[in-house]
Amino acid sequence: MKQRLEQLQQDVLAALLKADDEKSLQDVKVGFLGKKGTLTELMKGMRDLSADERPMIGSLVNTLKDQFESSFIERQSILRQQAIDAKLANEKIDVTLPGRRSTSGSKHPVTLVTEEIVDIFSRLGFMVEEGPEIEQDFYNFEALNIPKDHPARDMQDTFYITDDLVLRTHTSPVQIRTMMRHKPPVRVIAPGTVYRRDSDLTHSPMFHQIEGFLVDEKVTFGDLKGILTHFLNEFFGEGLAVRFRPSFFPFTEPSAEVDIACVICGGEGCRVCSKTGWLEILGCGMIDPAVFNSVDYDTEAYSGFAFGMGLERIAMLKYGVNDLRLFFENDLRFLKQF
Ligand SMILES: [Zn+2]
Repeated sequence: MKQRLEQLQQDVLAALLKADDEKSLQDVKVGFLGKKGTLTELMKGMRDLSADERPMIGSLVNTLKDQFESSFIERQSILRQQAIDAKLANEKIDVTLPGRRSTSGSKHPVTLVTEEIVDIFSRLGFMVEEGPEIEQDFYNFEALNIPKDHPARDMQDTFYITDDLVLRTHTSPVQIRTMMRHKPPVRVIAPGTVYRRDSDLTHSPMFHQIEGFLVDEKVTFGDLKGILTHFLNEFFGEGLAVRFRPSFFPFTEPSAEVDIACVICGGEGCRVCSKTGWLEILGCGMIDPAVFNSVDYDTEAYSGFAFGMGLERIAMLKYGVNDLRLFFENDLRFLKQF
């Protein structure tokens, strides 16, 4: 019995040292002290011992248990420390590795030109106004002196929702809405999305316009020329040649179209300017008294001018983009360049 206990002592301590994780450590404990463990089995032999032998063997068993317990705890704490060390080693961060850069978005070219134009006019005291994209006939046409039989009302150009509701075909209804709310003086710049039934290389059914207007006492065509020339020089560069050509719009009288010297060839003549050396850039004019009548402005006391331009066209010229559709395809290779 004594010999078997000594042998067991050696075996179990060796097994503890061999256990290399908590699970196998527990297995050793169960195999030794459990209900069917080796020590438990051995203890069954106690009955057969003589009265002399029993205390000696009993104390030997107790010593063995104590020894096992302390060895077990020691081994357990070593294994736990090893597990923590291994975990730390696995999860450590190598600060010398190159970081993963998160890609940040950039502004769309149409947004960029819109912001720049708004900024230039803000410095001239213009306020930004917005209006609804689904617009009533009155604001989109009637109040702007566009009579029922005007070609701009043709079904080919306008998206009708009902007889009275349209997707606005220009940003000009913002003029009417603003003038109905505010008495002069008003200076407003109104960027926004507009819609027309048109789609080809240079037209998209949805595009962007920016509208500007100023109403006050004694506003003249000279003021219009001065402000637009200033704006075009700020936007495209100092010393840019600008010309005003007579034109027609239902809501302005007199009306003009404004050209700038071709920004691609500098006026020499190229494909973009159709060899003319000039690029059409915006439409403008003195606000027609008929428009003032529909918003209840005193046509004797006040005068004003308005202008509007297509933002995609401006962006194409500013950044040398040759296809309008690039603005709407959301190709990252294109957008990343801005
Ligand atoms: Zn040119």
